[in-house]
Amino acid sequence: MNCADCGRENEQGATTCKDCGKPLPVAESPDAAGSYGGWDQVAETRQIYEAELMKLRLQSSGIDAQVVDQTFEQAPMPEVANINVVRVLVPNDRAEEARRILAQPVDLPADGESDGNGDNQ
Ligand SMILES: [Zn+2]
Repeated sequence: MNCADCGRENEQGATTCKDCGKPLPVAESPDAAGSYGGWDQVAETRQIYEAELMKLRLQSSGIDAQVVDQTFEQAPMPEVANINVVRVLVPNDRAEEARRILAQPVDLPADGESDGNGDNQ
Protein backbone atom coordinates (compact mmCIF):
# COMPACT_ATOMS: atom_id res chain seq x y z
CA MET A 1 0.00 0.00 0.00
CA ASN A 2 1.39 3.38 -0.92
CA CYS A 3 1.28 6.28 1.49
CA ALA A 4 -1.22 8.87 0.30
CA ASP A 5 0.95 11.62 1.68
CA CYS A 6 4.52 10.87 0.58
CA GLY A 7 3.95 7.95 -1.81
CA ARG A 8 6.28 5.56 0.02
CA GLU A 9 5.34 1.89 -0.28
CA ASN A 10 4.50 0.26 3.04
CA GLU A 11 4.03 -3.35 4.15
CA GLN A 12 0.56 -4.83 4.21
CA GLY A 13 -1.06 -4.33 7.57
CA ALA A 14 1.04 -1.30 8.44
CA THR A 15 -1.01 1.34 10.22
CA THR A 16 1.38 4.24 9.81
CA CYS A 17 3.80 5.18 7.03
CA LYS A 18 7.36 4.12 7.86
CA ASP A 19 8.65 7.16 6.05
CA CYS A 20 6.54 10.11 7.16
CA GLY A 21 4.54 8.53 10.00
CA LYS A 22 1.14 9.48 8.61
CA PRO A 23 -1.71 7.05 9.29
CA LEU A 24 -2.41 4.65 6.45
CA PRO A 25 -5.90 3.60 5.40
CA VAL A 26 -6.95 0.40 7.17
CA ALA A 27 -8.99 -1.08 4.36
CA GLU A 28 -7.06 -3.67 2.34
CA SER A 29 -9.82 -4.54 -0.10
CA PRO A 30 -12.73 -2.64 -1.65
CA ASP A 31 -15.06 -4.83 0.34
CA ALA A 32 -13.57 -3.70 3.63
CA ALA A 33 -14.03 -0.01 2.97
CA GLY A 34 -16.11 1.52 5.73
CA SER A 35 -16.34 -1.80 7.51
CA TYR A 36 -14.65 -2.64 10.79
CA GLY A 37 -14.89 -6.38 11.34
CA GLY A 38 -18.67 -6.72 11.30
CA TRP A 39 -19.27 -3.09 12.23
CA ASP A 40 -20.34 -0.40 9.79
CA GLN A 41 -19.58 3.28 10.15
CA VAL A 42 -22.83 5.24 10.10
CA ALA A 43 -21.52 8.63 11.15
CA GLU A 44 -18.31 10.59 11.38
CA THR A 45 -17.73 13.73 13.40
CA ARG A 46 -14.94 15.73 14.98
CA GLN A 47 -16.77 16.11 18.26
CA ILE A 48 -16.77 13.22 20.72
CA TYR A 49 -19.96 14.50 22.39
CA GLU A 50 -21.79 14.45 19.06
CA ALA A 51 -20.74 10.87 18.55
CA GLU A 52 -21.82 9.97 22.08
CA LEU A 53 -25.21 11.61 21.47
CA MET A 54 -25.66 9.60 18.28
CA LYS A 55 -24.65 6.45 20.14
CA LEU A 56 -27.28 7.17 22.81
CA ARG A 57 -29.95 7.75 20.16
CA LEU A 58 -29.10 4.46 18.49
CA GLN A 59 -28.95 2.56 21.75
CA SER A 60 -32.34 3.94 22.79
CA SER A 61 -33.62 2.43 19.54
CA GLY A 62 -32.15 -0.93 20.44
CA ILE A 63 -29.06 -0.71 18.23
CA ASP A 64 -25.76 -1.67 19.78
CA ALA A 65 -23.68 1.32 18.73
CA GLN A 66 -20.07 2.05 19.61
CA VAL A 67 -17.91 5.14 19.33
CA VAL A 68 -14.38 4.92 17.99
CA ASP A 69 -12.23 7.90 18.81
CA GLN A 70 -9.30 7.82 16.42
CA THR A 71 -7.71 10.88 17.96
CA PHE A 72 -6.13 8.56 20.54
CA GLU A 73 -4.13 6.64 17.97
CA GLN A 74 -3.01 9.83 16.31
CA ALA A 75 -2.42 11.85 19.46
CA PRO A 76 1.38 12.15 18.99
CA MET A 77 0.82 13.95 15.71
CA PRO A 78 1.31 17.72 16.02
CA GLU A 79 -1.43 18.40 13.50
CA VAL A 80 -3.93 16.23 15.37
CA ALA A 81 -6.54 18.99 15.30
CA ASN A 82 -6.79 18.64 11.53
CA ILE A 83 -7.29 14.91 11.41
CA ASN A 84 -9.13 13.92 14.55
CA VAL A 85 -12.17 11.88 13.69
CA VAL A 86 -14.73 10.20 15.87
CA ARG A 87 -16.69 7.40 14.19
CA VAL A 88 -19.99 5.89 15.18
CA LEU A 89 -20.20 2.19 14.38
CA VAL A 90 -23.12 -0.24 14.44
CA PRO A 91 -23.38 -3.93 13.52
CA ASN A 92 -23.54 -4.48 9.74
CA ASP A 93 -27.12 -5.68 9.76
CA ARG A 94 -28.34 -2.59 11.65
CA ALA A 95 -26.46 -0.01 9.58
CA GLU A 96 -29.37 0.92 7.35
CA GLU A 97 -31.71 1.33 10.30
CA ALA A 98 -29.10 3.35 12.16
CA ARG A 99 -28.57 5.75 9.26
CA ARG A 100 -32.32 6.31 9.06
CA ILE A 101 -32.47 7.13 12.76
CA LEU A 102 -29.54 9.54 12.54
CA ALA A 103 -31.08 11.23 9.51
CA GLN A 104 -34.02 12.28 11.62
CA PRO A 105 -33.87 15.69 13.28
CA VAL A 106 -32.81 15.68 16.92
CA ASP A 107 -35.70 16.40 19.22
CA LEU A 108 -33.98 18.72 21.66
CA PRO A 109 -35.83 19.69 24.83
CA ALA A 110 -37.38 23.13 24.66
CA ASP A 111 -35.95 26.03 26.63
CA GLY A 112 -36.38 25.47 30.37
CA GLU A 113 -37.59 21.92 29.94
CA SER A 114 -34.36 20.24 30.96
CA ASP A 115 -34.28 18.71 34.40
CA GLY A 116 -31.60 20.17 36.63
CA ASN A 117 -28.61 21.05 34.51
CA GLY A 118 -27.53 23.93 36.74
CA ASP A 119 -29.66 26.65 35.21
CA ASN A 120 -30.43 28.87 38.19
CA GLN A 121 -33.17 31.15 36.98
ZN1 LIG B 1 4.29 8.62 3.98
